[in-house]
Amino acid sequence: MNPPITKTRFAPSPTGYIHLGNVRTALFSALAAARDCGVFLLRIEDTDQARSSNDYSDALKEDLDWLGLRWQEGPDIGGDHGPYHQSQRSDVYARYYRELEQHDLAYPCFCSEHQLALSRKAQIAASKPPRYAGTCARLTPEQVQAKLREGLQPVLRFRVPQNQSIRFTDAVRGEQVFAGGDIGDFIIRRADGTPAFFFCNAIDDALMQVTHVLRGEDHLSNTPRQILLLEALQLRVPCYGHISMIVGTDGAPLSKRTGSESVRELRAHGYFPLAVVNYLARLGHAYESNAYMTFAELASSFDTSKLGRSPARHDVNQLIHWQREAAAKASEQDLWVWMGPQVHGLVAAGQVSEFIQTVRPNVTQPEDALHWAQVIYGEHLALNHDAQQIVQHAGAQFFEAALSALETHRDNFAALADQVKAVTGVKGKHLFHPLRVALTGEVHGPEMARLLKLLPLEQARRRLLACAGRV
Ligand code: GLU
Repeated sequence: MNPPITKTRFAPSPTGYIHLGNVRTALFSALAAARDCGVFLLRIEDTDQARSSNDYSDALKEDLDWLGLRWQEGPDIGGDHGPYHQSQRSDVYARYYRELEQHDLAYPCFCSEHQLALSRKAQIAASKPPRYAGTCARLTPEQVQAKLREGLQPVLRFRVPQNQSIRFTDAVRGEQVFAGGDIGDFIIRRADGTPAFFFCNAIDDALMQVTHVLRGEDHLSNTPRQILLLEALQLRVPCYGHISMIVGTDGAPLSKRTGSESVRELRAHGYFPLAVVNYLARLGHAYESNAYMTFAELASSFDTSKLGRSPARHDVNQLIHWQREAAAKASEQDLWVWMGPQVHGLVAAGQVSEFIQTVRPNVTQPEDALHWAQVIYGEHLALNHDAQQIVQHAGAQFFEAALSALETHRDNFAALADQVKAVTGVKGKHLFHPLRVALTGEVHGPEMARLLKLLPLEQARRRLLACAGRV
């Protein structure tokens, strides 16, 4: 028999916009599937009706699409194992509840929140790990019927075998052993009839023939429960890999303050999807090459054995590095669209290509492009304190010389600067800084030779006149 095709999945709960952490899980899963020419599956885990929304599931599909993470099985495109929204799979779950109950592997539990809280308290006071005490585990069918007649709504608990140890090899963290005795009988169906996470998540992975589950390490302690369930139902257990979490520069879990941005926010800030992908692919996964890569290139050298066990540190400077790479590599047409309507409104017709080439090395976000468009085409130029100092230091005579040089060398910055140098005797940075500052308001920026070609002549004149103190 052929080995099963690699199938990975992303199984988000649509209770908010996806952020860096969960999108990295999606990315690693998509890369793992693509590397083996396998299938990347998307499943929407929307059993928590109160917190899930269609808007969020639409948003997450759009975000994945924007990032170029395409699923080959799942919502909108279908597949052999749908439906792919858990809210539509109640019949499937009912079948497996029945099977577990028939084999006495699950039982109804009527304990109230209050009773459970008391039991937890007592266990903690006795220095025992809190777990379900098994109060309802041995109710007779008559006792169960009597409680049901009282109108009590039970949860369904899975009967955990007490004398068994659960072993598995985690694709990231290696050998794992858990004692069955440490796991209390856990809830697989809530009192309102909805399936609990452990249950539907594991059942769906098996039924959808997922071979590799990559997910956050916060799920590691769920895995032995899920393995027990799958074994009890004689369903195939996938290979699990638990990815280390992302922390902020302070070493604490990512928060809003330390840069836990949603994909939407990154997109709104003007990040390129492939910049985000190149950044995240290396966040906790070692690549030999530091080159900016396409999704296919990243996939070809992706390897779960290269996923780190220690927390991955989010570093916005690295993200910006990949953004720069993306801006440098983008086609002129893509860059133009990315710069946005405000820039489109400023740049002179016929200068689009030249403008893009001129500012490209100095833009990482659309707002940078807007800044340079305003510098070149805007009426008003604001000089900051440092810039003003440079202008003052150069003196009015310097700018008079620049004005006459401009009349002969309107398009040729090198010749213009040479002439100013010849007339004033000023050279090096004392020559180039005041010219740049007078014409652009900035000490640094795109190549002057290119900028001068774009700058409307009237604008250049006016700026030099202002520095010469004549307006
Ligand atoms: N819906 C779960 C979550 O978003 C999925 C966990 C998993 O990947 O197994 O945390």
